[in-house]
Amino acid sequence: MSDLITQKRCAKCGVVKNIEGFSKNRSTRDGFDGRCKNCRKDFKKFFIDKDKEKKRSVQYYKEHRKNFIQHSKEYYEKHKDKINKYKKQLGLKIREDIADGYVLNILKIKKSDIPTVKEILKELGITLEQLIEIKRQGILAYRERKANAKQCRC
Ligand SMILES: [Zn+2]
Repeated sequence: MSDLITQKRCAKCGVVKNIEGFSKNRSTRDGFDGRCKNCRKDFKKFFIDKDKEKKRSVQYYKEHRKNFIQHSKEYYEKHKDKINKYKKQLGLKIREDIADGYVLNILKIKKSDIPTVKEILKELGITLEQLIEIKRQGILAYRERKANAKQCRC
């Protein structure tokens, strides 16, 4: 049957073309692709471009995020003692007050970013949990500073 077909309408561009303009495809009824070769090329290109875009944005994210995370880590190392003191003082309140999701939100880390972030952190030698903890302490230190400043004005 299929050798009788000489022309076909492309499902994408709608142009009726000679059957040479379509790739063979055993899974279709007439034995040829629904889309002409040109449209299939565009389709492929679209996905390849999308893939490139994705890779680029991951790269961008890695480059920028890395600096930020590195900074957080350095901040923590520098103020470790102070931070640990706050931690002790406030104890359990930290957990209730500053949930992981809240910290991730402040770090501007979306759920979909987590695998990338984890990859970056691996390079830096810390875990996501540690990063959250570091930021949490930073938030606490900031709140403490703000509270102290208020007291001073009284
Ligand atoms: Zn077409």
